[in-house]
Amino acid sequence: MITIKSKSEIEKMRIAGKITGDALKLIEKYIRPGVSTKELDKIAYDFIKKQGATPSFLNYNGFPGSICASPNSWVVHGIPSKDIVLKEGDIISIDMGACKDGYHGDAARTFAVGKISDEAQRLIDVTKQSFFEGIKYATHGAKLGDVSAAIQEYVEKNGYSVVRDLVGHGIGKKLHEDPSVPNFGRKGKGVKLAAGMTLAVEPMVNEGEYDVVVLDDDWTCETEDGSLSAHYENTILITKGECEILTL
Ligand code: MG
Repeated sequence: MITIKSKSEIEKMRIAGKITGDALKLIEKYIRPGVSTKELDKIAYDFIKKQGATPSFLNYNGFPGSICASPNSWVVHGIPSKDIVLKEGDIISIDMGACKDGYHGDAARTFAVGKISDEAQRLIDVTKQSFFEGIKYATHGAKLGDVSAAIQEYVEKNGYSVVRDLVGHGIGKKLHEDPSVPNFGRKGKGVKLAAGMTLAVEPMVNEGEYDVVVLDDDWTCETEDGSLSAHYENTILITKGECEILTL
């Protein structure tokens, strides 16, 4: 069931979204060669707690971290670890959420660790831009497929592929609500968007093929061909005009 949020719910979503966006800005300051993903997880946990919120991901279906930390060919759902130490030239995708007063925010960024290759930077830039290309169509009365198709078109035009096995989602009282928000699809198809819907739009973009595999820890999702992958996500509010981004 797709929920339409009331004014007071939207106010709470803005607060949860701001905490999530601010946490990512804080994490960005600590991204450097030598830092472990466990340290980044602790920074996120402490920040979220200090805001009187709770980390949405921690213990979600048993997930053991406050962030998902997925370097290089890992797509999403990487478990923070003291043994995963970032090194010069890596890219690192950080996905996280915060819950405040019963409502969630969810967002992801891919960061450069030190100096990275031009190719890796281009992947990060195209992934981020694909989100903004998609949300141009995210308005009251449009079809969800308009958003999905715009993301896919932009990504593929740039020579990359869109992950099929993982998609965005509605968000609110629950971290994952209806509808599913694929990053691929056809214009004019799918759910009709309405003001008051809140969605997590999150292109996951691979340098190579779109196929992914899940590793033996049952969480980590990696590109099957070992190519780099990037992720960019925000929680948005559908309005009668341009959508409002809640997690920037
Ligand atoms: Mg999400």
